[in-house]
Amino acid sequence: MSVPSETIKSLVKAAAEQVIASAPELTSLDQAIGDGDHGTNMKRGCEAVLGKLDAISAQPLDEALKMIGKTLVMTVGGASGPLYGSFFLAAGEALSHDKNLPEDLADVFGSAVNAVSARGRSQVGEKTMLDVLVPVLETLKTAAGQPDLIARVRTTATEAVERTAPMQATKGRASFLGARSVGHVDPGARSTCVLVQAVCAGLEA
Ligand code: ADP
Ligand code: MG
Ligand code: MG
Repeated sequence: MSVPSETIKSLVKAAAEQVIASAPELTSLDQAIGDGDHGTNMKRGCEAVLGKLDAISAQPLDEALKMIGKTLVMTVGGASGPLYGSFFLAAGEALSHDKNLPEDLADVFGSAVNAVSARGRSQVGEKTMLDVLVPVLETLKTAAGQPDLIARVRTTATEAVERTAPMQATKGRASFLGARSVGHVDPGARSTCVLVQAVCAGLEA
């Protein structure tokens, strides 16, 4: 199935705008356990994506995802830029190599999550964006093809973010705080949730 250009455009636009709107919250979360730039990093990257929205959405989905990934790598910076970049590049690569939507959604998402884990040398449970990505992947696998898939993904993402609060960070800047990272939601987990919720809302509309 090829995804219509208008669909790509509206989903990318909604996701980027939601992250930009969340920048103050992302920054304040990163002020608690990092260096306070996650909101500005993500806002810069999403503004760059919005600036290329016409070019991105003129591509087939695999190329559009790769273009998003390259743009984020070049503009977000910090730890999160290369990680989000890897996610979208790997998703695009998976779609270029005989994976199709919607039937291979969990496979494609899984390739993207693996790319984050490889790039970050990180696993679930280390208080990072993977603590939202991995539970969402699990729901995509277990609820594949079910009518309430999107609703379940949304619930999973929201609950997964909250579960990062009691975790102690062992990757990224928050790990420098040791036990003092406990009690705060991870900023990258929150930005991942914002992206997931925006895409889900766009698909439900
Ligand atoms: P920086 O920490 O370099 O300032 P950001 O503030 O933009 O970068 O992003 C921080 C977020 O990146 C963290 O909240 C975490 O979710 C994510 N992150 C950091 N290191 C890793 C890693 N090794 N693996 C997965 N995610 C990571
Ligand atoms: Mg930071
Ligand atoms: Mg930084």
